[in-house]
Amino acid sequence: MSQQAANKKIAVIGGDGIGPEVVAEGIRVLTHLDRAHNIGLQFEHFDLGADRYLKDGTTMPPELMQRLADTFDAIFLGALGDPRVPSNVHAKDILLGSRFQLDLFINLRPIKLLNSRYCPLKDAGPEDINMVVFRENTEGLYTGIGGQFKRGTADEVALETEMNTRKGVERIIRAAFAYAKKHGLKSVCMSDKANAMRHGHDLWQRVFAEVGEEYPGIETFHLYVDVLCMELVRAPKRFDVIVTNNLFGDIVTDLGAQIQGGIGLAASGNIHPGQVSLFEPVHGSAPDIAGKGIANPLAAILSAGMMLTHLGHADLETKVIAAVKGCLDAKQVTRELGGTLNTTDVTNAVIERL
Ligand code: ATP
Repeated sequence: MSQQAANKKIAVIGGDGIGPEVVAEGIRVLTHLDRAHNIGLQFEHFDLGADRYLKDGTTMPPELMQRLADTFDAIFLGALGDPRVPSNVHAKDILLGSRFQLDLFINLRPIKLLNSRYCPLKDAGPEDINMVVFRENTEGLYTGIGGQFKRGTADEVALETEMNTRKGVERIIRAAFAYAKKHGLKSVCMSDKANAMRHGHDLWQRVFAEVGEEYPGIETFHLYVDVLCMELVRAPKRFDVIVTNNLFGDIVTDLGAQIQGGIGLAASGNIHPGQVSLFEPVHGSAPDIAGKGIANPLAAILSAGMMLTHLGHADLETKVIAAVKGCLDAKQVTRELGGTLNTTDVTNAVIERL
């Protein structure tokens, strides 16, 4: 058998603001691991983002989307958002476009506290905050279905329609249970607002009950999303896996990012199992600190770790998390976490630990 590593093709889109800076750090970590473990990573960089849009109007070429689907294993994205593009049209085309057109139905966001020093909750430690959120990523309130009537008049009507399909709800709920089973986790919590949103969220309730019956070893419980927010602060230890819709997942995972130590530490994957999937830090382009060399690269590095799991190297993600934890324990962090290191120094520290 050939000793050559399988080629894994990664599309790199740095994007805007600190996006390219933190993605470069993630790639340094990936390159280090590739050399050590012969993963066979191949990177191809794409010039997409606000600069490109302002230069020639390109947001996301349709043929590129097809190429990503057909020939790449993963996409590593930095961040999108630029004050010069107030409509954010490029971000919508690139990020929402990828989620919808590549059918990346799982938005997976781990909420894992690595060192209690960085948690704003009193007395909470890593044993209390260790969960994953499965956010539905292709429907809900993000499809743009709706309209405006009599816009700009006193009689204006604006409608935003939440789309919940049986297929969409079922596959995200199944993914959450499958993850819990695979990782030996105790429970899956489904969160909705079925008391107010009686049609769509009734569908979530029924599907959750049905799928849950197929997993007798896993405890199931339900919380309205307002109660979930309270419980994440009051008793985060209750949660192993949370599954919820697109909008609630967006909001709840930002709360989660804070209890795990802030936006500079929150990683995410936009996943379709077995197909090209996109990995990105949860934070935005942070124009206020772009170009200064002080952005925290750890969220991007942890996202690169999630990508390694998608590529079949879960053992290497575990190593990445351990190295990041080592840096947090030793206060080898950027300023917003109370440290003194710059972006590159933090990555150097991660690589040294790896
Ligand atoms: P977007 O709309 O693109 O999500 P935003 O302005 O709402 O952007 P961020 O870009 O994430 O949100 O920035 C929010 C705050 O967090 C800013 O003050 C920013 O400097 C800070 N921040 C975000 N990411 C990082 C990071 N990786 N390292 C340090 N600070 C960060």
